Amino acid sequence: IGARCIPFRDRLNRNLGSVTLLHDITALKKVNQLKSNFVSMVAHEIKSPLNSILMQLKVILDGLAGDLTDKQKEILQRSSERIKSLTKLSSELLDLSKIESGLINQEREELDLVELIKDQVAGYQDTVDAESTQLTVKETKNQIHMLGNRTNIEEVVSNLISNAIRYSPNGGKITVWADENSDGVVIKVSDTGLGIPEQDLGNIFDRFFRVKNKETRYINGTGLGLAIVKSIVEAHHGTIEVQSRKGEGTCFSVYFPKPEYKI
Ligand code: ADP
Repeated sequence: IGARCIPFRDRLNRNLGSVTLLHDITALKKVNQLKSNFVSMVAHEIKSPLNSILMQLKVILDGLAGDLTDKQKEILQRSSERIKSLTKLSSELLDLSKIESGLINQEREELDLVELIKDQVAGYQDTVDAESTQLTVKETKNQIHMLGNRTNIEEVVSNLISNAIRYSPNGGKITVWADENSDGVVIKVSDTGLGIPEQDLGNIFDRFFRVKNKETRYINGTGLGLAIVKSIVEAHHGTIEVQSRKGEGTCFSVYFPKPEYKI
């Protein structure tokens, strides 16, 4: 049931009563569930054939099926990259439909955000060019605890770091840190990359939205990463904010309220 309550007040703002509208949204929920199931089924079904095509391309690229000319190698390389993008798209669609249908990992455990962030940053350290990109964890406290689902919170941090790297094509400074105060904990990922144009800031958490300009044209992506991040954050009762200036850089802040009980 969807409910909406409209209060009635007199000129002195005294409460006279209210009208409550109740909508039966069962059909809408069913359609959404069907849509979610369909997307998840299609995404799942295309994942294995894509993987097998990728393996076969690798066999040919490695020269195990005969010698290749440079041109043939280049074409196969490009095809492999396309297949990898499709695999990423189907994984992200699967993630999103899992989250939407409430199948997001429910188990919560005590997490140390300082350790979790350090692990994620270490995982990306080898993927960046150390000459041009400085990827570091800013020291704050020794430990910062929260109650959350490890896989999901790792996905949030990993997505934000991966974006910071991808949207800093000329390198720069990427800094990741966690902090806490009496209200809760915060995770921040800041970069000195391309930045986001002001008119696009309101749309970046929408599914399939991608900033389109000459700087981002050659950066691959699905437009689903931040939608997934936002859904996970909200499933943990948190919020996400972005501050960005085109040409200067971006900083994402993820806030989680303190759990009611002490860890
Ligand atoms: P994807 O990166 O796959 O396109 P996302 O949902 O992760 O999808 O991001 C949506 C859009 O937001 C991106 O296409 C990009 O234009 C912009 N964006 C996200 N993170 C950053 C960042 N750190 N710096 C600049 N732009 C970003």
